Amino acid sequence: MEAPSRGIPESIKCQLRQEAGFGCCICGNPVFQYHHITDWALTKSHDLLHMMVLCPNHHHEATVRALVEQEQRRRKERPSNIVNGYVDGLLKITEPGVAVQVGTNYLVGPGFKFIVDGAPLLALDRDSDGRLQLSLDLYDAADSLLLLIHNNEWITGDPMPWDVEFSHRRFVLRRKSGEVTLSIDARQAPVLLHGQLWRKGQLFEMNDDELRFNGVNPDVGFSEIGFVNSSFSADTTSGVFQLIPEPRFREACLVSWPDRAERLERCFAVIRELEQKTV
Ligand SMILES: [Zn+2]
Repeated sequence: MEAPSRGIPESIKCQLRQEAGFGCCICGNPVFQYHHITDWALTKSHDLLHMMVLCPNHHHEATVRALVEQEQRRRKERPSNIVNGYVDGLLKITEPGVAVQVGTNYLVGPGFKFIVDGAPLLALDRDSDGRLQLSLDLYDAADSLLLLIHNNEWITGDPMPWDVEFSHRRFVLRRKSGEVTLSIDARQAPVLLHGQLWRKGQLFEMNDDELRFNGVNPDVGFSEIGFVNSSFSADTTSGVFQLIPEPRFREACLVSWPDRAERLERCFAVIRELEQKTV
């Protein structure tokens, strides 16, 4: 049985991510796990030389030895993303901060979160080198936990019910039945986000038109708004929904402007002002 990933020192994880090009060594999937090539139960060590980055599906194949050790080591030496020139992984963006489009809304800031009852449901950040960092606590409509992804690491959850599509600057998590749970399209700026996330029996939906929280007092929908340095927090007991500032800056701002391109420019202008105030 594999050791819990939390037992792996962060320095080892960091080196493994870098040598793998921030994705599965075999397929390049930007959401991955850390695999012990030499069975951890035998060695009880987290040795860089005997570990590699794999997506959940290839991790399963390696664990049951459908992928033999020799092949695992060959892939560790020649990771997919490195071979294909994506040394920073598939989710690297060049724009500063994180600018996201949800329906007709823009979210601009250092990152953002959807928080339900004090716990993040979805978070999208970028690291200091511009790689998008996805965290997702995924529940079904009956509030059963399906999977956890923290900073692109698939922490827990059966990968079998899911289809994961990915390419350069694109990641889609889809149920085998076809329904898209989360789509991140960073091929253009702002990053386009779609999805349907459940928590506490409430639906948090990012569709073509709006950002909608279904079930909060009784429901809240946003369209044609710019959110700057804002995260969204819902309390399912009180029905209160609020915007809270990301901690890097003290303020969260709303930008209302009819023309979308100008609205986006104004969002960037506000974030630049917040940056100057913080210096
Ligand atoms: Zn893979």
